[in-house]
Amino acid sequence: MSGEGVHAGKTALVTGSTSGIGLGIARALAATGANVIVNGLGSQDDIDKAMAEVSQGASGKVAYIGADLSQPGETAAMMAEAIEKFSAVDILVNNAGIQHVAPVHEFPVEKWDRIIAINLSASFHTIRAATPGMLEKGWGRIVNVASVHAFVASPYKSAYVSAKHGIAGLTRTVALELATHNITVNAICPGYVKTPLVTGQIADTARVRGITEEEVVRDVMLAAQPTKKLVTIGQVADLAVFLCSDAADGITGSLLPVDGGWSAQ
Ligand code: NAD
Repeated sequence: MSGEGVHAGKTALVTGSTSGIGLGIARALAATGANVIVNGLGSQDDIDKAMAEVSQGASGKVAYIGADLSQPGETAAMMAEAIEKFSAVDILVNNAGIQHVAPVHEFPVEKWDRIIAINLSASFHTIRAATPGMLEKGWGRIVNVASVHAFVASPYKSAYVSAKHGIAGLTRTVALELATHNITVNAICPGYVKTPLVTGQIADTARVRGITEEEVVRDVMLAAQPTKKLVTIGQVADLAVFLCSDAADGITGSLLPVDGGWSAQ
């Protein structure tokens, strides 16, 4: 989606943007002229690669602020540093997330706590810190990367599904609170997206089951996704850019599926 220059002078912070969907959104926002703050875990090499990718085609500044978002103190410090360096976070994309799969009676308590902390509570902390600057400027965009699991459940994902349902509630509540201030708050709800993580899983599953990668995608991973196609990072990033545009001014409190029809069933 083209939108070159539309966000010149604005600052976007994308959590979990050293990889996958967050990296795609950071790149796409950089192409709109916004300053982009990259955040996420990874080796120095991963971070350098992500920074180089986001910088390509960026006309604004690109900065990295590290923080382990499972720690509220680190999240607060990241937001304070962003606001100090760029005066405000005009566009906030809460994307960082992790997964763990296990039956509920075997679900490790520390995994539950970590998933709720990163996939849900961190978004509360970032929104809480970014909102005063947005209110002051009279403009803001908050995009939460949720999941089809904000609408529906799958077995063995109790923490993930709970966190994503929680993000749906947070999105709607904050949207109502900020509705008269030119600040929109929405969630993107992807089905299976072709991220490096998922690509690796496809190859592994094909090898283990002795079937082709196409069969893994169609019959194993996408059993619940009617299009039988993985969503692309670009499709999610384009929607994020659109939600940040003035054309999307009338969209707030919405949970937008990009799930190949999964949630229509
Ligand atoms: P990914 O593993 O490629 O990227 C996750 C990012 O979050 C990385 O940059 C990682 O460093 C960061 N992160 C993880 N823990 C962190 C922490 N404690 N502090 C700071 N950063 C942390 O995953 P992805 O597939 O791109 O997923 C991104 C988001 O999209 C997640 O919220 C995920 O739930 C959601 N999602 C993904 C899919 C999919 O199929 N890939 C589908 C629906 C929703």
